[in-house]
Amino acid sequence: MSSNHIAVAVDGPVGAGKSSIARTAAKRLGFIYCDTGALYRAVGLYCHRKGVDLKNAEDVAGQLSAIKPEIRLIDGVQHVFLNGEDVSEEIRLPEISMAASAVSAVPAVRAALLDIQRDIAENNNTIMDGRDIGTVVLPNADVKIFLTARPEIRAKRRFDELTAKGIEVKFDDVLKELNERDFADMHRETAPLKQADDAVLADTSELDFEQSVDLVCEIIKGRT
Ligand code: C5P
Repeated sequence: MSSNHIAVAVDGPVGAGKSSIARTAAKRLGFIYCDTGALYRAVGLYCHRKGVDLKNAEDVAGQLSAIKPEIRLIDGVQHVFLNGEDVSEEIRLPEISMAASAVSAVPAVRAALLDIQRDIAENNNTIMDGRDIGTVVLPNADVKIFLTARPEIRAKRRFDELTAKGIEVKFDDVLKELNERDFADMHRETAPLKQADDAVLADTSELDFEQSVDLVCEIIKGRT
């Protein structure tokens, strides 16, 4: 990186455990953790509340001047604000996942969120997760990891996570939504989800949480 901070890019499909693994690895290594999906979710939430047609890129882009998404660290924990309102919980609802995926395909939305993400990595030792961190947001990241696992395993983890939060969902719906969202994220024209050429592939299908964190920390330590 051009700054004197270490940047770690973690990309991968839905439910690969990116956020929980990267958050824990960041704590262990004394880095800050940034979940960029939360920014797309905040934009998706705004459009969802306003009843904007999410398939209409012009309508979505037209909302941007009224949307100020922010990431703030409170006691070391990332909170996401939408026009001054803390929406960290609300953005996790399943319907907002789909809204986030829809708005994330709009090039103007991606452009609007670029500087927020780069500023964070410029000013901190950061582990940043998303879909295009290693390919677009931080192409010169010191370490790039592509984190994945088999779809059924990712769906089970996502199902358990939502159920633990008291959000009622069916496993089949979670798997279907996960596959739909991955397909959309991989096939959009702008900044599609893909492994960067210089990223290390980390498949956590056969690993438990602790083993996955160990693996990520080892990859980072081995390259910094
Ligand atoms: O990671 P998370 O599931 O919270 O992301 C929500 C959606 O935001 C993804 O499905 C993807 O469409 C979009 N996203 C993106 N680029 C990122 C992070 C998230 O397009 N860097």
